Amino acid sequence: MIVRDALFVGGSWVRPDGDGTIEVSNAATEEVMGSVPDGSPADIDRAVAAARGAFDDWSRASVDERAKAVERFGEALSARVPEVGTLVAQEVGMPITMSTVIQGALPAMVMGSYGPILREVAFEERIGSSVVVREAAGVVAAITPWNYPLHQAVAKVAPAIAAGCTVVLKPSEVAPLSAFVLAEAAEEAGLPPGVLNVVTGRGAGAGETLVGHPDVDVVSFTGSTPAGRRVAALAAQSVKRVSLELGGKSPSVVLDDADLADAVNAAVRQCMLNSGQTCIAWSRLLVPRELHDQAAELAAEVVASYVLGDPLDYATTLGPLATATHRDRVRAAIVAGPNQGARLVAGGAERPAGLDRGWFVSPTIFAGVDNSTALAREEVFGPVLAIIPYDGENDAVRIANDSIYGLSAGVFSADRERALGVARRLRAGMVDVNGGGFNLLAPFGGFKQSGYGRELGRHGLDAYLETKSLQLP
Ligand code: NAD
Repeated sequence: MIVRDALFVGGSWVRPDGDGTIEVSNAATEEVMGSVPDGSPADIDRAVAAARGAFDDWSRASVDERAKAVERFGEALSARVPEVGTLVAQEVGMPITMSTVIQGALPAMVMGSYGPILREVAFEERIGSSVVVREAAGVVAAITPWNYPLHQAVAKVAPAIAAGCTVVLKPSEVAPLSAFVLAEAAEEAGLPPGVLNVVTGRGAGAGETLVGHPDVDVVSFTGSTPAGRRVAALAAQSVKRVSLELGGKSPSVVLDDADLADAVNAAVRQCMLNSGQTCIAWSRLLVPRELHDQAAELAAEVVASYVLGDPLDYATTLGPLATATHRDRVRAAIVAGPNQGARLVAGGAERPAGLDRGWFVSPTIFAGVDNSTALAREEVFGPVLAIIPYDGENDAVRIANDSIYGLSAGVFSADRERALGVARRLRAGMVDVNGGGFNLLAPFGGFKQSGYGRELGRHGLDAYLETKSLQLP
């Protein structure tokens, strides 16, 4: 049992105001693996006061001082990679081989990346008689989800503190344990007290108090679109600056000249990453109508190769879902699929054979999906792929863009220029061309109801900077 009974406020580990706790469960065993404080409004008040108190000095620290601090912070996180990989594998269900790299090492790299970024960015420019400066925007409320818990936290904390802001982080109640590692790494890196504060708690309690707090200037939220709407509405009461990284129903588009087997393999694997619990998952696969049945067969072959099991087993390639409630939601979406005219070609809603505990769902493929049905429109956030036939390139672009979301997309073609042409027509914040990989320095974020604002790299700083013009005589 990992019992965390203190909150990180003003550089110290403090007793929470109340005695409420939140249990953390192991997704593969369904057993309680730890507990954290259920932070109260009074805890949020204390944390915001600490962040406000630290702001004046930290926002005036030199660029070099801040760059060195994030680099030390990145190194401290690097030393904790195996621990974070193991924690998140248990909380979220991602297989350890991937969890160590994506959940553990990636956040350490993102934190460190802000050292060189800070040294490159121009914080001042001259426009005629004015000096235009970009300065820290204030106290930041960072609210994060459970699917990539440390990465999502670092994607906010790193640029915020690099910009000179101070932060109160409220991690997800489903996977909060790595946030404590983040706080310990901040201590180890010698980050001044109050620059980062961590309060665990629930969305409706600690989360809403933080978003509405009069001393918070910026809200950066990652989570579901319904919660994002609520957060934006609350923040609007005091006209706070808000960034939202929300849900998706992202398409991958296989053009008729692509190598079908390679493209389907890449698209299915991207969709199934972290058992589909990925905001940028390509949960819609668009294929030419004449290749549809072949694509469905290929997709079924790909999912047949997955090894479901304990995420801590190195042989496992697909783990369970994070919670029982979430597993039930995903199962319900699968049960509803055939009623929408879709054909089940792999997987299904039943518990996978041989796995009598853990919140497992088989990787599931539906073919012949109509883009107007719920299966193509609503985020499932599980290992469920909808294959949709199209007639010609314009139809593919139309279907891909026919979504309330616009987070990510993929395009596959034998002709790079043709793929790029289609990529430019897609209304999404990130488009991978022919399997182009994740770039931690490239802007990350969505169009439409996938949110607004961008994280990572130098664009990630923008949410945490105000622009001021100084007019000279
Ligand atoms: P969620 O919206 O339930 O919770 C996210 C966070 O918000 C949690 O910390 C929660 O406690 C808090 N919260 C919930 N309601 C709140 C409220 N009213 N006020 C303040 N805080 C509140 O989301 P989740 O289930 O943790 O994560 C899954 C969702 O996140 C999916 O929809 C996924 O697509 C999305 N997501 C998006 C991105 C992205 O970058 N676009 C990344 C990861 C996850």
